[in-house]
Amino acid sequence: MQEEDSTTQNDQRDDPRVIRHRARPSRRIRLLVVGAVAVVGLGVAGVAVAATGDEPAPTPVSVDAQARAEATARADRSARESPAPVTPSASPASPTPSASAAATAKATTAAPKPKKTVKAKPAWVIPMKGAQITSCFGQRWGTLHAGIDFALPAGTPIHAAAAGTVVKAGDAGDGYGNSVFIDHGNGYLTHYAHQSRLAVAVGDKVSAGEVIGYEGSTGDSTGPHLHFEVHQGQMWNQIDPAPFLRARGIDVAC
Ligand SMILES: [Zn+2]
Repeated sequence: MQEEDSTTQNDQRDDPRVIRHRARPSRRIRLLVVGAVAVVGLGVAGVAVAATGDEPAPTPVSVDAQARAEATARADRSARESPAPVTPSASPASPTPSASAAATAKATTAAPKPKKTVKAKPAWVIPMKGAQITSCFGQRWGTLHAGIDFALPAGTPIHAAAAGTVVKAGDAGDGYGNSVFIDHGNGYLTHYAHQSRLAVAVGDKVSAGEVIGYEGSTGDSTGPHLHFEVHQGQMWNQIDPAPFLRARGIDVAC
């Protein structure tokens, strides 16, 4: 009884499994072979595709063979899931084959990207691009130099390092000359000193990179430069701007 039972069970279990096991790879191999033939045929000439007969996607003109082969490999799936990608620059007289191939490649790479390509403006920018750094944050001549000095010819525009509100503008007689404070609303303020002329006033809202004034040598200054400071938490709590800016993607040589 026991023997019979086990034998029967084995037979019942084995038979369908074996059949399924055998059937699966052979079908897959056949598909692979057909796919390979189609791909090779496309690469050599468009005729082979017609010979196989079961190519559903129409192949109008010869394009980049590799791109077309890839598309063919995906055709079954993608054709059903989404409408065929329409070439955006479909002009009746296509200029050159290379241009159309480039357009196709562009469309192929752009198509699966769900993200928007609109680049957001960087939150922080360097206040004076291309300037020579003449002094970093740190002890200098026995006192703390609480900012970074950027040097370019006098009159060079100075840019807001980030968006914010102007909370102080003018010459307070404190040695900073014509200076501007911007409150960035996130616990940080930036300070721009020794300007020859200011372009903003208290209460102005500025965006990152907006011109707030022009480089000069007002106040206690030995020559035209921008003295730039970052204040944390409150006014006059200066921190080293270099690591602060570096953490925001701006590398200053300090
Ligand atoms: Zn300075």
